[in-house]
Amino acid sequence: MHLNESPFPPAPAVVEAMQRAAAGLNRYPDHDGSELIAELARRTGAAPDHIVIGSGTNELLYASADISLDQGDEAVAPVPGFPTYAKTITMRGATHVGVAVRKDGVVDIEATLKAVTPQTRLVFVATPHNPTGGLLGMADIELLVRELPEHLLLHFDEAYYEFGRHAGGPESLPLLARRRGPWIATRSFSKAYGLAGARVGYGITSSRELADAYRKIRINFSVNAVALAAARAALDEGGHLAELLDHTAAERGRLAQGLSALGFQPLPSAANFVTVVTPRPAAEIAQGLRAKNIFVLPFPWPQTPGALRITVGTRQDTDAFLAAIRSVMGA
Ligand code: PMP
Repeated sequence: MHLNESPFPPAPAVVEAMQRAAAGLNRYPDHDGSELIAELARRTGAAPDHIVIGSGTNELLYASADISLDQGDEAVAPVPGFPTYAKTITMRGATHVGVAVRKDGVVDIEATLKAVTPQTRLVFVATPHNPTGGLLGMADIELLVRELPEHLLLHFDEAYYEFGRHAGGPESLPLLARRRGPWIATRSFSKAYGLAGARVGYGITSSRELADAYRKIRINFSVNAVALAAARAALDEGGHLAELLDHTAAERGRLAQGLSALGFQPLPSAANFVTVVTPRPAAEIAQGLRAKNIFVLPFPWPQTPGALRITVGTRQDTDAFLAAIRSVMGA
C-alpha cells in the first residue's frame, strides 16, 4: 500500500492486446504513438499535434525541466510533493523553490503565485496532489490561469486525474486553455488504468510549438510497443475503470473512518490513497506496520508527529491494514 498502484490487474482485453504486441517485438514501436494519440485526441477534444506521450508521466516531468530550465533559473514546486519535481529541477542546475501546501493538503495557489520571480521558468502544480490527495477547486485553477505570468512553463500534473473527476473535481482543460503562456497537463496510465508496470503517460499542451519541443527531445522509442498497445486497449475498458474508481472511493472511505477512530486525522483525499496526520511519530508507526509486512509512506507534516500515506488496496487489504494498525497503536 505504498506506491499508489491499482490493486487490480489490467482488464483481460488489455492483457490480450499486450500479448499480441509482444509477438511483434522484433520491430521497433511506433515512435509517434499515432493510434494512441488519435484516440486521446478524440476523447479529450485536444488536437493530435498538441498531445505528447512519454514513458510514464515521469518522462514528461523531466522533459519540462529540460525544455525550460538552465543553470541559475528558478522553478516553483509544492512541498511535500512528488520527488521527481525537485530531482529534475536540481539536475538542471536550477533552484528549487518549495511552496508549502495548505493545511488541507491542497496545493497553495496564492503562495505559488507569490513565489514566482522574474527568474522563474517553470511551475509544477498537482491535482489531486501527491502525497496528500488534495484537489484544486475551479476557483483555484482560474486564479492560477489568470495570475501566473506568461514568461514561464506551467506543468499541471494530473497523474490522479480520473480519481479527481470521480470525486467531483473540475475538468481542467477548458480552464487551462485560457492561459496565455505555455502549459502542459500530464495524465498517467499507471494509476486508474492499472498499468504502472507498462510505463506510459501523456501530456496535453497549449500549442503545437510546445508539443514539438517535447517531441524533439524525447528519447527514441521511449514508449515500447507493449505499453502502447496496453494504453490504447485500456481506453476501451470503461467498465473496468468505473469499477476501480467506485471501489477506490469506497475503500478510501473505510480507511479514513477506521483511522479516524484510532485518533488519526485524515486529509480530504481525491486520489487512490488516504493521508493522515498521526498522533505518534509517523516513522515509528510505519516501522511497526513494516514488521507486519505492510508498507506505507511516512513523511513529515509541519507542527505534528508526521503523516502517513496509505494506498487503497483490495477490501482484504483494508481489513488487514486496519487490524495491523490497531495492533501497532495498542488499541
Ligand atoms: N506525478 C505524480 C503526482 C505521481 O504521484 C506520480 C507517480 N507516483 C507520477 C507523476 C508519475 O507517474 P508515472 O510516471 O507512473 O506516470
